[in-house]
Amino acid sequence: MVTAGSSAECDVGISGGRISQLGGSLRGRREIDAAGALVLPGGLDMHVHLSAPDAPQPGVPAWVDDFAAGSRAAIAGGVTTIGNMTFPRDGESLRQALDRDLAAAADGAAVDYVLHAVLTDPSAEAIAELPVLASQGHQSLKLFMMFPGFDTHADEMLAAIRIAGHSGTLTMLHCEDGALVRAASQRLLAEGRGGLANWAGSRPVLAERAAVERAVAICEATGSPIYIVHLSSQAALDSARRGQARGLPVFVETRPLYLYLTSELLREPDGAKYIGCPPLREPADVEAMWSGLADGSIHTLGSDHAPWSLQAKTDASLDVTTGRPGVADLETMLPMLFSAGVRTGRVSLSRFIELTSANPARLFGLYPRKGTIAVGSDADLVVLDPQLRRTIDGRSMQSNADYSVYDGQQVHGWPRFTVSRGDVVLADGEIVAKSGRGQWLRQGPTTMP
Ligand SMILES: [Zn+2]
Repeated sequence: MVTAGSSAECDVGISGGRISQLGGSLRGRREIDAAGALVLPGGLDMHVHLSAPDAPQPGVPAWVDDFAAGSRAAIAGGVTTIGNMTFPRDGESLRQALDRDLAAAADGAAVDYVLHAVLTDPSAEAIAELPVLASQGHQSLKLFMMFPGFDTHADEMLAAIRIAGHSGTLTMLHCEDGALVRAASQRLLAEGRGGLANWAGSRPVLAERAAVERAVAICEATGSPIYIVHLSSQAALDSARRGQARGLPVFVETRPLYLYLTSELLREPDGAKYIGCPPLREPADVEAMWSGLADGSIHTLGSDHAPWSLQAKTDASLDVTTGRPGVADLETMLPMLFSAGVRTGRVSLSRFIELTSANPARLFGLYPRKGTIAVGSDADLVVLDPQLRRTIDGRSMQSNADYSVYDGQQVHGWPRFTVSRGDVVLADGEIVAKSGRGQWLRQGPTTMP
C-alpha cells in the first residue's frame, strides 16, 4: 500500500465506501488478494472532455466519448475521479451549462467527477456568477488564451481571474497566444503549406512561451492561483519556473502526448492523428517535461482526453486553421507513466502518486477525501500489477476512438482492480460498474502548499 508520503505492507479495510482501517488483521465480506501488486490511491484526471462545446449537429464530427464511455476508460486505466470541461452553449449561463452537464453525468458517469466551467464570454453576468458558483462548490474555472475573445475582452478576463481567486476558485489557463498562433497559421496557408503536416509550425513555442509569461504576470497582478493546462515546451516551463521561484502560485499540468511523442510524427502519412493544442514538440522539450515531473515544477498529469474517430481526425480537407485537436488518453495515462516513468526510475513511485492523485486532489479542493489512502478517505483504490504487460491497441480499448496514438507500444504495469468509494468497478480486468453510479464532488479551495 503506497501513498504520496508512505508505504506499508498491510491490509486495507473498507466500510461504507470509506477507508476504515489500515493494518491489523482484517476479515471482510469481500476480500481482494493484492499480493504481488501495488495498492495506490485512485487516479484523478482533472482534464477530460466528455461533453461537447456545441449541441450535436448531424454530419458534423464531434468528440466520441460521453460520461459513460469516458468512465469506462477511466476505470480501466485506474482513474477514479475526473474533471470535465463544461462549455456554455449559445445563451446559457455558467450555471445552466453546469446543470446540463450535471444531468448528463448523473446518467452516465461511473466514477466521481467535478465540472470546470469554461468562461468564453466574460460578461458582467458571467463574472457575477463566479462567487455564487464557488459558494456552491464549483471552485475551478477554465479560460482559453488562444480564443479571440480573450484579447478582445482582456480587461474582463483579468477581472474574472481576480474574482475567481478571491472566491477560492482555481483558474485553469490554456496558454497559447491567439494572435501569434493565427499569424503563423495564416502565413502557412498563404505559402501553400497549410496542410496538417505543418501543424507544429502553426502553433510555435513562442506563442506558448508568450502566453505563459502573461499568465505568470496575471497571477502576480491578481494574486489568484493559476493552473496552466497541458504545458508542452521547455521554454514555457522555464517561464513558469521563474514565477514559481518568486513564490507565485503558478501550477503546471502536462499531458502524456508531450512525454512520449515528438513533432516528426506529424509529417507521417496519417500524422494528423497526433494533433493537439499545443502541438507535439522536439526531443529537448520531451526531456524538459520529464525533468519537470521529477523536480516538482510540473504538478499534475492530465490526459486532456478529447477523442475523435480516426476518420474525423485525418480528414484530408482540414488545414492548420480547422484541424481537430485532441486524443484519447484516459485509459493509458497512468499505466504509461508507471511503465515509462516509475519502472525506469525517471520518477519515484511517490512522485507518481503526487502527479496522478495527491496533487490534483489538493489543487482542486478534494483532499483528503480523494488523493490518498487514509482512514476516513473515500475508498478509491487501484490495485496495479507491475508484472502485467500489454501492447496498446486503441480498437480494443474502452474509448470510442478507434485508435490510440500509442498503438503498438508495450506498457508494463496495469490495474487489475479499481475500487471507487468501496465499489469494485474493475475486477480482474473486467469493468463491472454501472453507468450513473458516479457522484459529483463539492470542491473546496486549493490546498496545495
Ligand atoms: Zn482540453
